[in-house]
Amino acid sequence: MNSPAPARARISVIGAGPGGLTCARILQQHGMAVTVYDRDPGPDARDQGGTLDLHADNGQIALREAGLLDEFFRLARPEGQEMRQLDPTGTITAHHVPAPDELFKPEIDRGQLRTLLLDSLRPGTVHWGRALTVVGGPAEGPRQLHFADGTTVETDLVIGADGAFSRVRPAVSPAVPEHTGVSFLEAWFSDVENRHPDIAELVGPGSAAAADGDRGLFAQRNSGNHIRVYIIQKVPVDWISASGLRVDDTDGIRALLLDEYAHWSPRMRQLITDNDGPYVDRPIFALPVPHTWEHNPTVTLLGDAAHLMPPLGVGVNLAMLDASELALALANAATVDDAIRTYEKTMLPRSTETAKALEHGAEHLLSADVPDFGPDGVRS
Ligand SMILES: Cc1cc2nc3c(=O)[nH]c(=O)nc-3n(C[C@H](O)[C@H](O)[C@H](O)COP(=O)(O)OP(=O)(O)OC[C@H]3O[C@@H](n4cnc5c(N)ncnc54)[C@H](O)[C@@H]3O)c2cc1C
Repeated sequence: MNSPAPARARISVIGAGPGGLTCARILQQHGMAVTVYDRDPGPDARDQGGTLDLHADNGQIALREAGLLDEFFRLARPEGQEMRQLDPTGTITAHHVPAPDELFKPEIDRGQLRTLLLDSLRPGTVHWGRALTVVGGPAEGPRQLHFADGTTVETDLVIGADGAFSRVRPAVSPAVPEHTGVSFLEAWFSDVENRHPDIAELVGPGSAAAADGDRGLFAQRNSGNHIRVYIIQKVPVDWISASGLRVDDTDGIRALLLDEYAHWSPRMRQLITDNDGPYVDRPIFALPVPHTWEHNPTVTLLGDAAHLMPPLGVGVNLAMLDASELALALANAATVDDAIRTYEKTMLPRSTETAKALEHGAEHLLSADVPDFGPDGVRS
């Protein structure tokens, strides 16, 4: 089958995360028809997680293409760019205070970013409650999307924006994510100025990190007077059940953590013990490096589906840049096949280079070295 012109192609994006929604928005800006499928039952089905910094050299470029940069700056928190490095006693050892006009990487809550992107799409673009199970059909197309609800949809282009454990990925690559040996445990603090004033002061308006070589903490201010803390440990993926606990056994986990962080000061230990509600287990996975695949004329990947890396502040930014470049390639190419080639020619080398740089990055989060925040506030 000849590859269709993008304007006449049936384009399906799997995944309504930041990458998939950015791609759909820019395609619609260029007059192309697109349908997004997501397994969540609806946009508010689950907590979207913490705050994200969108960088001037990738995430913000995508938002500009999407016509949403001004709206982003209205929502963003430039003060969230403040970064503190603490030692296990709670003493500040390095501090980046953003200049009043600094906008290199302002913060936005993940939920706010998703709403901004969702509201920019034509009504009915996203089909909720559609969990893809497998991509079928021949490589030259048309493709069949098989969903867990038993339905099937025929399409000319499948864009896998379905995150870490992508169901689109097997259509182009046998790679599977592996545990990095590091896991985050998420703790949540609400109404911090009133209920947790000491923690509010310790973390400040942005983020605060601490590590002793074997364990760490990363705390970040979210909007609405909330603070989210990631407790970072070098542990096997099943460390909670291997300790005879369940993730909802908040008291049991707390006791384990108090033991693990026994030599940290009581002030710092508040960040692991005074949380509101249960902990959330977030084991950190990454794809093997490098991750590339043979060109396929009807399937491509973007974001975490293409290049899952340890969370060092670039994942969303790369997903949105991929999305923007793929949508623009489709807007400008004669065929879908040509557009995928153009997109992958830039995206695959870029993601390989970044993935190599971050390959053992999860363990660096445990390093007790004092970081050099650099003149532009980027942690190096
Ligand atoms: C603890 C933690 C903290 C992080 N902090 C940051 C940070 O500060 N800054 C940063 O840039 N990055 C951060 N990241 C990384 C970032 O979350 C990801 O890189 C980013 O979300 C990738 O976007 P995406 O659109 O590719 O995929 P996702 O955001 O994972 O979205 C995928 C979407 O696909 C849907 N989906 C999944 N499977 C299916 C299926 N089978 N069928 C249909 N739909 C499906 C999901 O419901 C979801 O909506 C962090 C990651 C973690 C784990």
